[in-house]
Amino acid sequence: MRGLALHWKILIGLVAGTAVGMLVNLFGAEWTALAAGSGALGWLGELIVGLNAFVGDVFVRGLRFIAVPIVLFSLVAGVSSVRDLRKLSRIGGKTVSIYVGTTATAITLGLVLVNLLGPGEGFDPAMRDALGAAQAEVAEERIARAQAPDVWDTLLNIVPENPFNALAEGNMLQVVFFALVLGIVLTLVRPERADPVVAFAQGMSDAFIEFVHLVMRIAPYAVFALIAGVVGQLGLGVLQPLIGYCIAVVAGLAVLIFGFYPLVLRLLTPIGYRQFFRGISQAQLLAFSSSSSSATLPVTMEVAERNLGVSEQAAGFILPLGATINMDGTALYQGVAAVFIAQMYGMELGLSGQLTIVLTATLASIGTAGVPGVGLIMLVIVLEAVGIPLEGIAVILGVDRILDMCRTAANVTGDCMVACVVAHSEGELHPPVAREPQPAG
Ligand code: ASP
Repeated sequence: MRGLALHWKILIGLVAGTAVGMLVNLFGAEWTALAAGSGALGWLGELIVGLNAFVGDVFVRGLRFIAVPIVLFSLVAGVSSVRDLRKLSRIGGKTVSIYVGTTATAITLGLVLVNLLGPGEGFDPAMRDALGAAQAEVAEERIARAQAPDVWDTLLNIVPENPFNALAEGNMLQVVFFALVLGIVLTLVRPERADPVVAFAQGMSDAFIEFVHLVMRIAPYAVFALIAGVVGQLGLGVLQPLIGYCIAVVAGLAVLIFGFYPLVLRLLTPIGYRQFFRGISQAQLLAFSSSSSSATLPVTMEVAERNLGVSEQAAGFILPLGATINMDGTALYQGVAAVFIAQMYGMELGLSGQLTIVLTATLASIGTAGVPGVGLIMLVIVLEAVGIPLEGIAVILGVDRILDMCRTAANVTGDCMVACVVAHSEGELHPPVAREPQPAG
């Protein structure tokens, strides 16, 4: 095991976690039931469940801990060293337009697939109502949390009233804004005053990169713990009644990840298929296990810089923005879910309905935070826009966590692809030629 590259170790953690989770689910009814026994066995079960949750949570916390400072320092260091405002605004414009373009493509792909496969057509209404009734309460709570984003408010909210609040709250768009402004104004300050600040930011950025390496050392165990917890709790049996729907989502995500992204990369950058996937595998595996693109962000930045050759400045700007607004996987999922629910309830959507879905799912995915489960909450906005029954949320809720894992992996892959494309177009991509990807640990 010692000489094995980190991404293999993480993969082993993932497979072992799935196997253990399934065994527990089969024999212990569910993960938490392990702790419910009495005597020594119950105590041992409690210890295992507690320790497992602890390892997974500590890991995700460790990554979240790094996310804000690494974005702040690397962006301040990167921006202040470029001293070219026009280039920065060009990068910003390209990034946002490509993000929106890939998101709309992802939804369209999802819509084509779900219309072709028709997983909700002829869906047994008794099964639909039983699944819905089982999750009705949780679904209601999620529906109540949905709030349509107001475009002006969203834009206004990028500007923090107090930059330190933005840092404390981990509001990533505001942190990016603060870092950009600080980096830019530093270029206007006399060099003897500005240089120590820039050197400090660079030093801190390097220190936090080392921190990522440290945290990644426990990644294989943490991935095991996270996956064992989810699979042990849910089991894979939950997939069965909704298998057609799950296949439509996963097939769409697979085409997106393994077809569309590499194709764009091939057309627009010198990065090849193998280099891309070997380079970002750690970030993908973490995204899959944690269901959180913002927790994965420090690793996404590290692999994009180290294994794909995206410059620190480009990665520090494009990737945090992506982890906040670019959710191609989520958008595809929202498109498929909306049409699936409509099919289940025998609703004809027509072309204008489907176009409304493309529009609203683009907005809803932009408004989705990079944490577990928010894509489902924002789905409410898409359903409401087309008049699809919200009860459908309860029907698909049981499989949401598993699909969340897959869509988060797609979200992170999309961010990395766009980072390569934009960086290459700006001369900010220097792919490490024919080099083994470096493990972050
Ligand atoms: N979990 C997703 C992410 O972090 C968001 C979602 O679709 O729920 O990217």
